[in-house]
Amino acid sequence: MSEMIGVVGAGTMGNGIAQVAARAGYAVVMRDVQDDFLARGVAAIERSLQRDVDKGRLTGEEQRAIVGRISTTTDIGALAEAHFVIEAVTENLQVKTEIFRALDEITQPGAILASNTSSISITKLGAATRRPDQVIGMHFMNPVPVMKLVEVIRGIATSDETYERTRQMTEQLGKTALECNDSPGFVSNRVLMPMINEAIFTLYEGVATRESIDGIMKLGMNHPMGPLTLADFIGLDVCLAILNVLHSELGDPKYRPCPLLKKYVDANWLGRKTGRGFYNYGDK
Ligand code: NAD
Repeated sequence: MSEMIGVVGAGTMGNGIAQVAARAGYAVVMRDVQDDFLARGVAAIERSLQRDVDKGRLTGEEQRAIVGRISTTTDIGALAEAHFVIEAVTENLQVKTEIFRALDEITQPGAILASNTSSISITKLGAATRRPDQVIGMHFMNPVPVMKLVEVIRGIATSDETYERTRQMTEQLGKTALECNDSPGFVSNRVLMPMINEAIFTLYEGVATRESIDGIMKLGMNHPMGPLTLADFIGLDVCLAILNVLHSELGDPKYRPCPLLKKYVDANWLGRKTGRGFYNYGDK
Protein backbone atom coordinates (compact mmCIF):
# COMPACT_ATOMS: atom_id res chain seq x y z
CA MET A 1 0.00 0.00 0.00
CA SER A 2 1.50 3.32 -0.96
CA GLU A 3 -0.90 5.53 0.95
CA MET A 4 0.52 7.44 3.87
CA ILE A 5 -1.15 7.92 7.24
CA GLY A 6 -0.13 10.78 9.51
CA VAL A 7 -0.41 10.34 13.28
CA VAL A 8 -0.08 13.41 15.51
CA GLY A 9 1.01 12.51 19.06
CA ALA A 10 3.26 9.59 20.03
CA GLY A 11 1.73 8.92 23.47
CA THR A 12 -0.36 5.96 24.65
CA MET A 13 -2.96 6.28 21.89
CA GLY A 14 -0.81 7.78 19.11
CA ASN A 15 1.81 5.03 19.19
CA GLY A 16 -0.94 2.38 19.32
CA ILE A 17 -2.61 3.89 16.25
CA ALA A 18 0.74 4.15 14.41
CA GLN A 19 1.37 0.48 15.21
CA VAL A 20 -1.94 -0.82 13.84
CA ALA A 21 -1.65 1.38 10.74
CA ALA A 22 1.89 0.15 9.97
CA ARG A 23 0.82 -3.42 10.66
CA ALA A 24 -1.99 -2.98 8.13
CA GLY A 25 0.67 -2.07 5.54
CA TYR A 26 0.52 1.73 5.54
CA ALA A 27 3.50 4.04 5.58
CA VAL A 28 3.11 6.08 8.77
CA VAL A 29 4.57 9.42 9.77
CA MET A 30 4.25 10.00 13.53
CA ARG A 31 4.70 13.52 14.85
CA ASP A 32 5.29 14.74 18.40
CA VAL A 33 6.82 17.88 19.86
CA GLN A 34 10.07 16.34 21.14
CA ASP A 35 12.43 13.65 19.87
CA ASP A 36 12.45 11.82 23.21
CA PHE A 37 8.60 11.52 23.13
CA LEU A 38 8.91 10.02 19.64
CA ALA A 39 11.64 7.62 20.79
CA ARG A 40 9.45 6.53 23.72
CA GLY A 41 6.54 5.96 21.31
CA VAL A 42 8.65 3.82 18.96
CA ALA A 43 10.03 1.83 21.93
CA ALA A 44 6.44 1.14 23.09
CA ILE A 45 5.56 -0.11 19.58
CA GLU A 46 8.63 -2.38 19.52
CA ARG A 47 7.76 -3.82 22.96
CA SER A 48 4.15 -4.42 21.96
CA LEU A 49 5.16 -6.18 18.71
CA GLN A 50 7.82 -8.18 20.58
CA ARG A 51 5.07 -9.72 22.72
CA ASP A 52 3.46 -10.99 19.49
CA VAL A 53 6.83 -12.32 18.28
CA ASP A 54 7.30 -14.13 21.62
CA LYS A 55 3.85 -15.71 21.25
CA GLY A 56 4.61 -16.82 17.69
CA ARG A 57 2.00 -14.50 16.13
CA LEU A 58 4.57 -12.46 14.21
CA THR A 59 8.05 -13.19 12.86
CA GLY A 60 11.05 -11.03 13.73
CA GLU A 61 11.24 -10.06 10.07
CA GLU A 62 7.60 -8.89 10.05
CA GLN A 63 8.24 -6.93 13.24
CA ARG A 64 11.18 -5.12 11.64
CA ALA A 65 9.16 -4.43 8.48
CA ILE A 66 6.29 -2.91 10.52
CA VAL A 67 8.64 -0.68 12.53
CA GLY A 68 10.43 0.20 9.27
CA ARG A 69 7.19 1.63 7.86
CA ILE A 70 6.99 4.17 10.69
CA SER A 71 8.98 7.37 10.40
CA THR A 72 9.02 10.05 13.08
CA THR A 73 9.24 13.82 12.99
CA THR A 74 8.85 16.96 15.09
CA ASP A 75 7.97 18.92 11.93
CA ILE A 76 4.24 19.02 11.17
CA GLY A 77 5.14 19.86 7.55
CA ALA A 78 6.29 16.23 7.15
CA LEU A 79 2.60 15.24 7.13
CA ALA A 80 1.94 17.17 3.91
CA GLU A 81 1.67 14.02 1.76
CA ALA A 82 -0.62 12.09 4.13
CA HIS A 83 -4.04 11.24 2.70
CA PHE A 84 -5.42 10.53 6.17
CA VAL A 85 -4.27 12.11 9.45
CA ILE A 86 -5.28 10.88 12.90
CA GLU A 87 -4.67 13.32 15.74
CA ALA A 88 -4.05 11.86 19.22
CA VAL A 89 -2.48 14.66 21.26
CA THR A 90 -3.25 15.84 24.78
CA GLU A 91 -6.98 16.34 25.48
CA ASN A 92 -6.99 20.14 25.23
CA LEU A 93 -9.26 22.15 22.94
CA GLN A 94 -6.74 24.91 22.24
CA VAL A 95 -3.91 22.51 21.41
CA LYS A 96 -6.15 20.41 19.14
CA THR A 97 -7.63 23.49 17.42
CA GLU A 98 -4.14 24.75 16.57
CA ILE A 99 -3.19 21.35 15.15
CA PHE A 100 -6.32 21.13 13.00
CA ARG A 101 -5.69 24.64 11.68
CA ALA A 102 -2.10 23.70 10.80
CA LEU A 103 -3.09 20.36 9.26
CA ASP A 104 -5.66 22.13 7.12
CA GLU A 105 -2.92 24.46 5.85
CA ILE A 106 -0.36 21.82 4.97
CA THR A 107 -2.23 18.69 3.82
CA GLN A 108 -3.62 17.99 0.35
CA PRO A 109 -7.21 19.17 -0.25
CA GLY A 110 -8.58 15.58 -0.26
CA ALA A 111 -6.99 14.50 3.02
CA ILE A 112 -9.27 13.47 5.88
CA LEU A 113 -8.46 14.93 9.31
CA ALA A 114 -9.60 12.66 12.16
CA SER A 115 -9.39 13.20 15.93
CA ASN A 116 -9.10 10.53 18.60
CA THR A 117 -10.53 12.91 21.22
CA SER A 118 -12.52 11.38 24.10
CA SER A 119 -14.77 14.36 24.66
CA ILE A 120 -13.96 17.43 22.56
CA SER A 121 -16.52 18.51 19.96
CA ILE A 122 -15.71 17.27 16.44
CA THR A 123 -17.90 20.11 15.14
CA LYS A 124 -15.61 22.65 16.89
CA LEU A 125 -12.47 21.03 15.45
CA GLY A 126 -14.07 21.05 11.99
CA ALA A 127 -14.88 24.76 12.35
CA ALA A 128 -11.16 25.49 12.86
CA THR A 129 -10.54 24.30 9.27
CA ARG A 130 -11.73 25.19 5.76
CA ARG A 131 -12.77 21.56 5.26
CA PRO A 132 -15.26 20.76 8.07
CA ASP A 133 -16.85 18.18 5.74
CA GLN A 134 -13.57 16.21 5.91
CA VAL A 135 -13.16 16.33 9.70
CA ILE A 136 -14.36 13.34 11.73
CA GLY A 137 -13.88 11.62 15.09
CA MET A 138 -12.09 8.27 15.28
CA HIS A 139 -12.28 7.26 18.92
CA PHE A 140 -9.98 4.26 19.40
CA MET A 141 -10.04 2.37 22.68
CA ASN A 142 -7.03 1.69 24.91
CA PRO A 143 -4.95 -0.46 24.33
CA VAL A 144 -5.33 0.25 20.61
CA PRO A 145 -3.67 -2.96 19.26
CA VAL A 146 -6.06 -5.09 21.35
CA MET A 147 -9.42 -3.30 21.35
CA LYS A 148 -11.68 -3.83 18.34
CA LEU A 149 -13.93 -0.78 18.52
CA VAL A 150 -13.52 2.56 16.83
CA GLU A 151 -16.38 4.92 17.64
CA VAL A 152 -16.69 7.00 14.47
CA ILE A 153 -18.15 10.41 15.21
CA ARG A 154 -19.79 12.64 12.64
CA GLY A 155 -19.54 16.39 13.27
CA ILE A 156 -22.44 18.51 12.08
CA ALA A 157 -20.68 19.16 8.74
CA THR A 158 -19.00 15.75 8.20
CA SER A 159 -19.90 14.44 4.74
CA ASP A 160 -21.20 10.97 3.93
CA GLU A 161 -18.10 10.41 1.78
CA THR A 162 -15.79 11.23 4.69
CA TYR A 163 -17.74 8.87 6.93
CA GLU A 164 -17.53 6.09 4.33
CA ARG A 165 -13.78 6.55 3.76
CA THR A 166 -13.23 6.53 7.54
CA ARG A 167 -15.31 3.38 7.95
CA GLN A 168 -13.24 1.66 5.25
CA MET A 169 -10.00 2.85 6.84
CA THR A 170 -11.15 1.52 10.23
CA GLU A 171 -11.80 -1.89 8.68
CA GLN A 172 -8.42 -1.88 6.96
CA LEU A 173 -6.87 -1.35 10.39
CA GLY A 174 -8.65 -4.53 11.54
CA LYS A 175 -11.20 -2.68 13.68
CA THR A 176 -14.98 -2.35 13.78
CA ALA A 177 -16.48 1.08 13.16
CA LEU A 178 -19.65 2.04 14.97
CA GLU A 179 -21.23 5.34 14.07
CA CYS A 180 -22.55 8.10 16.28
CA ASN A 181 -23.28 11.81 16.07
CA ASP A 182 -21.24 14.51 17.76
CA SER A 183 -22.49 14.98 21.32
CA PRO A 184 -20.61 15.35 24.64
CA GLY A 185 -18.93 12.06 25.57
CA PHE A 186 -20.28 10.48 22.35
CA VAL A 187 -21.86 7.12 23.28
CA SER A 188 -18.96 5.33 25.00
CA ASN A 189 -18.18 7.88 27.69
CA ARG A 190 -21.77 9.13 28.01
CA VAL A 191 -22.71 5.63 29.18
CA LEU A 192 -19.49 4.50 30.89
CA MET A 193 -18.63 7.57 32.99
CA PRO A 194 -21.94 7.84 34.86
CA MET A 195 -21.55 4.15 35.76
CA ILE A 196 -18.01 4.72 37.08
CA ASN A 197 -19.16 7.87 38.91
CA GLU A 198 -22.06 6.00 40.52
CA ALA A 199 -19.66 3.24 41.63
CA ILE A 200 -17.50 5.96 43.27
CA PHE A 201 -20.62 7.37 44.99
CA THR A 202 -21.42 3.94 46.44
CA LEU A 203 -17.87 3.79 47.85
CA TYR A 204 -18.13 7.41 49.12
CA GLU A 205 -21.43 6.74 50.86
CA GLY A 206 -20.14 3.53 52.47
CA VAL A 207 -22.61 1.32 50.62
CA ALA A 208 -19.89 -1.30 50.07
CA THR A 209 -16.12 -1.81 49.97
CA ARG A 210 -14.18 -1.27 46.75
CA GLU A 211 -13.76 -5.06 46.43
CA SER A 212 -17.50 -5.66 46.81
CA ILE A 213 -18.43 -2.93 44.34
CA ASP A 214 -16.02 -4.27 41.72
CA GLY A 215 -16.93 -7.89 42.48
CA ILE A 216 -20.67 -7.25 42.17
CA MET A 217 -20.26 -5.62 38.77
CA LYS A 218 -17.76 -8.23 37.57
CA LEU A 219 -19.56 -11.37 38.64
CA GLY A 220 -23.10 -10.02 38.52
CA MET A 221 -22.99 -8.15 35.23
CA ASN A 222 -20.28 -10.21 33.55
CA HIS A 223 -18.02 -7.17 33.13
CA PRO A 224 -14.36 -8.12 32.57
CA MET A 225 -13.28 -5.71 35.32
CA GLY A 226 -15.07 -3.74 38.02
CA PRO A 227 -15.74 0.00 37.56
CA LEU A 228 -13.21 1.16 40.19
CA THR A 229 -10.47 -1.01 38.68
CA LEU A 230 -11.42 0.33 35.25
CA ALA A 231 -11.31 3.95 36.52
CA ASP A 232 -7.78 3.34 37.88
CA PHE A 233 -6.80 1.94 34.48
CA ILE A 234 -8.25 4.89 32.52
CA GLY A 235 -6.80 7.49 34.96
CA LEU A 236 -8.90 9.30 37.56
CA ASP A 237 -7.93 12.72 36.13
CA VAL A 238 -9.22 11.59 32.72
CA CYS A 239 -12.49 10.35 34.28
CA LEU A 240 -12.94 13.67 36.12
CA ALA A 241 -12.22 15.70 32.97
CA ILE A 242 -14.80 13.74 30.96
CA LEU A 243 -17.44 14.02 33.72
CA ASN A 244 -16.81 17.77 33.85
CA VAL A 245 -17.42 17.97 30.08
CA LEU A 246 -20.66 15.96 30.38
CA HIS A 247 -21.78 18.08 33.34
CA SER A 248 -21.05 21.46 31.80
CA GLU A 249 -22.08 20.70 28.22
CA LEU A 250 -25.29 18.80 28.97
CA GLY A 251 -26.13 20.89 32.05
CA ASP A 252 -27.76 17.98 33.88
CA PRO A 253 -26.85 17.49 37.60
CA LYS A 254 -26.90 13.72 37.10
CA TYR A 255 -23.37 14.05 35.65
CA ARG A 256 -21.85 15.88 38.67
CA PRO A 257 -18.51 14.28 39.57
CA CYS A 258 -18.43 12.54 42.97
CA PRO A 259 -16.52 14.61 45.59
CA LEU A 260 -14.38 11.54 46.35
CA LEU A 261 -13.17 11.46 42.73
CA LYS A 262 -12.20 15.15 42.97
CA LYS A 263 -10.37 14.52 46.24
CA TYR A 264 -8.36 11.63 44.76
CA VAL A 265 -7.37 13.77 41.79
CA ASP A 266 -6.35 16.62 44.17
CA ALA A 267 -4.15 14.09 46.01
CA ASN A 268 -2.58 13.03 42.67
CA TRP A 269 -3.99 9.54 43.25
CA LEU A 270 -4.69 9.12 39.56
CA GLY A 271 -4.77 5.32 39.35
CA ARG A 272 -2.22 2.95 37.85
CA LYS A 273 -0.10 5.69 36.31
CA THR A 274 0.75 7.25 39.71
CA GLY A 275 0.81 3.95 41.62
CA ARG A 276 -2.32 4.72 43.62
CA GLY A 277 -5.99 5.26 42.89
CA PHE A 278 -8.82 3.20 44.35
CA TYR A 279 -6.19 0.45 44.69
CA ASN A 280 -2.44 0.53 45.38
CA TYR A 281 -0.07 -0.48 42.58
CA GLY A 282 3.27 0.04 44.33
CA ASP A 283 5.78 2.73 43.35
CA LYS A 284 5.45 4.13 39.84
P1 NAD B 1 -0.65 10.94 26.14
O1 NAD B 1 -0.43 12.02 27.15
O2 NAD B 1 -0.14 9.57 26.38
O3 NAD B 1 -0.03 11.43 24.73
C1 NAD B 1 -0.26 12.69 24.18
C2 NAD B 1 0.95 13.03 23.32
O4 NAD B 1 0.64 14.20 22.56
C3 NAD B 1 2.21 13.35 24.14
O5 NAD B 1 3.28 12.54 23.68
C4 NAD B 1 2.44 14.83 23.84
O6 NAD B 1 3.83 15.19 23.80
C5 NAD B 1 1.83 14.95 22.46
N1 NAD B 1 1.54 16.31 22.02
C6 NAD B 1 1.08 17.36 22.76
N2 NAD B 1 0.96 18.45 21.96
C7 NAD B 1 1.35 18.08 20.70
C8 NAD B 1 1.45 18.74 19.46
N3 NAD B 1 1.13 20.01 19.35
N4 NAD B 1 1.89 18.02 18.38
C9 NAD B 1 2.21 16.72 18.49
N5 NAD B 1 2.15 16.05 19.66
C10 NAD B 1 1.72 16.72 20.75
O7 NAD B 1 -2.22 10.95 25.86
P2 NAD B 1 -3.14 9.75 25.30
O8 NAD B 1 -3.67 8.96 26.44
O9 NAD B 1 -2.42 9.09 24.18
O10 NAD B 1 -4.39 10.59 24.73
C11 NAD B 1 -4.35 11.20 23.46
C12 NAD B 1 -5.76 11.48 23.00
O11 NAD B 1 -6.50 10.25 22.94
C13 NAD B 1 -6.58 12.40 23.90
O12 NAD B 1 -7.40 13.21 23.11
C14 NAD B 1 -7.41 11.43 24.74
O13 NAD B 1 -8.60 12.01 25.20
C15 NAD B 1 -7.68 10.35 23.70
N6 NAD B 1 -8.00 9.02 24.23
C16 NAD B 1 -7.29 8.48 25.27
C17 NAD B 1 -7.61 7.21 25.72
C18 NAD B 1 -6.84 6.58 26.86
O14 NAD B 1 -7.33 5.61 27.45
N7 NAD B 1 -5.63 7.04 27.17
C19 NAD B 1 -8.63 6.48 25.12
C20 NAD B 1 -9.33 7.03 24.04
C21 NAD B 1 -8.99 8.31 23.60
